[in-house]
Amino acid sequence: MTASTRYDCIIIGGGVSGTALLYELARYTDLKRLLLVEKYDRPAQVNSHAHNNSQTIHCGDIETNYTLDKALKVKRTASMVVNYATKLPARERDQIVHRMPKMVLGVGARECDYIRQRYQTFKGAYPRMQLLERADIADLEPNVALVNGSWRKDEIVATGTPDDYCAVDFQALSESFSAQCVRMDRDKERFSDKHVSQLYGTEVKKIRKDGSDYVVSTNRGDLLARSVVVCAGGHSLLMAQAMGFGLEYSCLPVAGSFYFAPEALNGKVYTVQNPNLPFAAVHGDHDVKERGKTRFGPTALMLPMLERYNRATVRDFFKVLRMDHNVAATLWDLLKVGDVRNYILRNFLYEVPGLNRRLFVKEIRKIVPDIEARDIEYADGFGGIRPQLIDRNTRELKMGEVKIIDGHGIVFNMTPSPGGTSCLGNAEQDMRLVAKHLGARVDWDAFEHELLTGHEDMREQQAPMLAEAS
Ligand SMILES: Cc1cc2nc3c(=O)[nH]c(=O)nc-3n(C[C@H](O)[C@H](O)[C@H](O)COP(=O)(O)OP(=O)(O)OC[C@H]3O[C@@H](n4cnc5c(N)ncnc54)[C@H](O)[C@@H]3O)c2cc1C
Repeated sequence: MTASTRYDCIIIGGGVSGTALLYELARYTDLKRLLLVEKYDRPAQVNSHAHNNSQTIHCGDIETNYTLDKALKVKRTASMVVNYATKLPARERDQIVHRMPKMVLGVGARECDYIRQRYQTFKGAYPRMQLLERADIADLEPNVALVNGSWRKDEIVATGTPDDYCAVDFQALSESFSAQCVRMDRDKERFSDKHVSQLYGTEVKKIRKDGSDYVVSTNRGDLLARSVVVCAGGHSLLMAQAMGFGLEYSCLPVAGSFYFAPEALNGKVYTVQNPNLPFAAVHGDHDVKERGKTRFGPTALMLPMLERYNRATVRDFFKVLRMDHNVAATLWDLLKVGDVRNYILRNFLYEVPGLNRRLFVKEIRKIVPDIEARDIEYADGFGGIRPQLIDRNTRELKMGEVKIIDGHGIVFNMTPSPGGTSCLGNAEQDMRLVAKHLGARVDWDAFEHELLTGHEDMREQQAPMLAEAS
């Protein structure tokens, strides 16, 4: 492989973020030479794999760790996923998005008051959301409201939607984006001079600037591009820092594991967030891939690696940790909170064979009150890593996605949850940046027609503003 082709844009990483961006650049811009480079031999083998995340389309209504402002931002990007998928032929659509009931459950008087108040604040923004009293909950999720046919002892109330597109297979979504790009590349009648290429089994080793271009060195040779977008999860930060960008960040990788139970839920049941904890509370989800199983989790375990089940990435973690006084102080601030300390210990114990099921079952009895330790099993080989960033200047643990923009044609995306849901919204931001840098035209009418209308009309909702180049 030689750098004989000068690509308009090279995307590094073939998860749901990278494939969504390739799709948007190919479908909506007049850029002619696009390339995606992925180290594994298929799309979505890391966090976007169906085994490795909670398969939730986060639209903000049942996530009590989101403010209304954050909820509205994710609602727009969540709708883009549903609008994309529901325009596909039914067979393809049904592999990607799934309808089912969803709710956030309050247990006990304090949480029930909270859920009722939250309903008043959120119902204007979520017209389909309903207040669900225990009889309504029993209709949708009998195992949540009833124990042996009688009402469970605690007071419960929920808000949610009886039937909505709220589950997604991000791996199938990535494969669909990738397949659409293959079709565009081959359809020379409609896209005569477009070349949309995907190189799998190709690992990027280094990126360097060469004049106004970028040289992307891989295990198969050098590639040349006018712009680059890195969508490589935690490895995006590694590549940014190797080029001298994002040095203000450190990375705290938080692994999430799951437990399976035989079909206990018909849909998604979230619980109320403890405001002292940085990570979302455990939830129960009807699994869209492992038929007949309910998935409980994710847990939250600090693991010194950038990619789950890939020991070679331990070394990469130590490179991006960049431990200093500020990182230590941020971690210390977290550990000072008793709830956080207990949470870290509990999450560690959830990984210890022999103990884990007996401890974890106590947590999920909040959702299914009569579930027993013998009913659940640790989901071996399932789960991913959320690359949470620490801003060393502000000593802040960043909870959502972070984008590093140099302003000269290269962008780096770090994508913890809800990065799967945000794939098309995040790609929209990158497409705007790439198009501006290269002076390309974007067909915003087609974009609006295809991604902002359909199942949900999002035309009125503004795209989030991009931060100035940093
Ligand atoms: C436990 C857990 C639960 C989650 N639940 C949800 C959820 O319910 N809903 C939701 O919206 N989000 C969820 N998320 C987050 C979501 O999974 C991620 O935000 C999303 O998958 C990120 O996609 P990505 O394409 O950015 O990264 P990834 O899917 O991780 O893809 C990165 C790609 O970059 C490639 N790569 C890395 N380095 C190189 C290199 N040097 N050369 C070439 N390629 C490289 C990797 O091989 C990989 O394919 C969850 C995450 C976890 C861990």
